Amino acid sequence: MSEAAKPVPSAVLERIREIVGPEGWISDAGAMHPYLVDRRELYHGRAPMVVRPASTDEVSRVVGVCAESATAIVPQGGNTGLCGGAVPHDDGSEIVLSLSRMERVREVDAVNDTITVEAGCILADVQAAAAEADRLFPLSLGAEGSCRIGGNLSTNAGGTAVLRYGTARDLVLGLEVVLADGRVWDGLRALRKDNTGYDLKQLFLGAEGTLGIITAAVLKLFPRPREVQVAFAGLASAADAVALFSRARAAAGDAVTGFELLPRIGLEFVLAHIPGSRDPLAAPHPWYVLVELSGPGAGDGLGALLEEFLAAAADDGLLQDAAIAASEAQARALWRLREDLAEAQVPEGASIKHDISVPLPRIPEFIARAAKATTRAIPGSRPIAFGHIGDGNVHFNLSQPPGADRGAFLAEWSRINRMVHDLAAELGGSISAEHGLGQLKREEILRYKSAVEMELMRTLKRALDPKGIMNPGKVV
Ligand code: FAD
Ligand code: ZN
Repeated sequence: MSEAAKPVPSAVLERIREIVGPEGWISDAGAMHPYLVDRRELYHGRAPMVVRPASTDEVSRVVGVCAESATAIVPQGGNTGLCGGAVPHDDGSEIVLSLSRMERVREVDAVNDTITVEAGCILADVQAAAAEADRLFPLSLGAEGSCRIGGNLSTNAGGTAVLRYGTARDLVLGLEVVLADGRVWDGLRALRKDNTGYDLKQLFLGAEGTLGIITAAVLKLFPRPREVQVAFAGLASAADAVALFSRARAAAGDAVTGFELLPRIGLEFVLAHIPGSRDPLAAPHPWYVLVELSGPGAGDGLGALLEEFLAAAADDGLLQDAAIAASEAQARALWRLREDLAEAQVPEGASIKHDISVPLPRIPEFIARAAKATTRAIPGSRPIAFGHIGDGNVHFNLSQPPGADRGAFLAEWSRINRMVHDLAAELGGSISAEHGLGQLKREEILRYKSAVEMELMRTLKRALDPKGIMNPGKVV
């Protein structure tokens, strides 16, 4: 926030310390470090203090003090976001407000199929609390052991179960939010039907902390799947993967709970770098899909359904080979081939990342054209197009040419982004399917959203945060 960067007055810091008590703040440089650097280490921020309130009331009073003094606040959950949204700028003019001490599950209601949690609950703990009540909280992503539900809701996180259960936004019935002036909006309603005017909670979901601070939420629970069937199939092309998905939906409907794509080179990275991984199929194939069917009743016959469906697809030439997991351990091993892909890219050097979505039928064209354009721009670079293909969401990651200079490759980040994003836009897609805008894509989005749409977003921002203290310089 270079224009008006002012240090936070010490009187303001003192008042905040009084509100949260000695357990509730950190200002030691070493202890603050993990809160000031993002996961990918693209952003290194500064702040005079990290505040860790223990209750909604404390959040409310801290924000009240900040509003009075026009002190900017950066809300933070698990700091696993990939767009620099949760870390402050580097001028020291903002405080970080971490929800990490607000980890209480307030209520599980197995009859209403809801769970009420504080924003700082780790996602895996929400899943575990649901499981304890014999229910499923379906949001699931690679960072689930450290991301926090308030962060998930504020980024409208996606993950691997969107196909069946929707994004984070679809899993919320009610919210409690501390507004930019410090007032608390108690919208913690546990209702599936409520047509009483504007759906205000939607404003805060996916807002990346720019409109208010989510302090608690009522989330939907689902029956726990009793039967889970997972297959890993080798295919000739991404077009076959899209065709296969369409057939899977026709054959198994909502029982299709996972449909993930990965290319041969991605599997090779995993086999090379992730200890214990092995190729489930005898011969190599250009593309792979992981298919998961699951259902609530044991004896759903999903195994037979999956087998028949794969056999018919093989007869029609849509797939070359497939392996079905015979046990839970095998199913987990197949999932890991997909989940470990991002990590397996690291030893292969730098990679330029994208998180695009396009309408499903355009995926093959997107992948082919993006690969052609980027490898022409950087000869020897290696496109890894993988992701939640059932959602039209492709993580198009370009790995550097083997042995190339890391810095020189990364210097091409913007040029490559531009090509890939322009292509996604041309095909009717989005430049951020699930990770958000944060700082990373704040400028870039101006190229793709209309002036009308940006103006509507700014109008909302001004209405809810007139002093501009909520996570300034992010999103809008
Ligand atoms: P943070 O990073 O702390 O914050 C994210 C944003 O939300 C920031 O703008 C922050 O200011 C704001 N915020 C945080 N808490 C609040 C609050 N209580 N109120 C208001 N604003 C708040 N994302 C996906 O969508 N799908 C994936 O499959 C996926 N896989 C991942 C795998 C790995 C290994 C990693 C590292 C990340 C992955 N992500 C994925 C990205 C990331 O995990 C998600 O964006 C996650 O939802 C962020 O949660 P967090 O608690 O870490 O949020
Ligand atoms: Zn993803």
